[in-house]
Amino acid sequence: MLPETYPDTELDLFVGLLHAPLVALGPGSRVGLWLTGCQRACPGCLAPEFWARDPARREPVAQVAARIIQAAQAIDTRAVTISGGEPLASPLALRSLLESLRQGGLEDILIYSGLTAPALLAAYPWVQSLSAALVAGPFDQNRPAREIYRGSANQELTLFDQALAPLYQTWAKQTQRQAQTLVAAGRLWLLGIPGLGDYERLVATTARLAAP
Ligand code: SF4
Repeated sequence: MLPETYPDTELDLFVGLLHAPLVALGPGSRVGLWLTGCQRACPGCLAPEFWARDPARREPVAQVAARIIQAAQAIDTRAVTISGGEPLASPLALRSLLESLRQGGLEDILIYSGLTAPALLAAYPWVQSLSAALVAGPFDQNRPAREIYRGSANQELTLFDQALAPLYQTWAKQTQRQAQTLVAAGRLWLLGIPGLGDYERLVATTARLAAP
């Protein structure tokens, strides 16, 4: 199933969060970008805060690309992870962003999508040449997975850039899940692929510790 469409131009993205360094979603130290917009409402979705789009978070693609490239330079990486929400909910804007990031020297672009890989690549074949790897498939809370790269067993990792195969193969074999805490925009975030209920437990624990 393709994502429902939103107004989409190559000019604008709706950014939920941009953070670096990100060490819990992809191999090594990376820039993380979460795009908003997803109408699938998978039960148990780990990122419901990115379903809706906030007009106040609309940003020109060129500005988002510049922020990512600057953040990558600051942490000395050429790696970025793009998740959401559904990054392919704005395909024109995503394609424009990927082209800018490639031109900016980012070689290792990992995309997380709720589309299956065959559906995604049939509709958006340019993803294969503009990204290094893809983790595809909607989260299914009834098919738990242990691997570091996915939240459920139906989600598949596809590597496009074979030069990065050793890096991704080593990463994908890991079964020790990582999660990274972040306080930004007035709230607590748990980045990566936490277990079901981990975020709620973290918030409750933090509130208890902060109580007088
Ligand atoms: S496709 Fe991804 S972001 Fe969208 S509801 Fe499902 S798990 Fe959440």
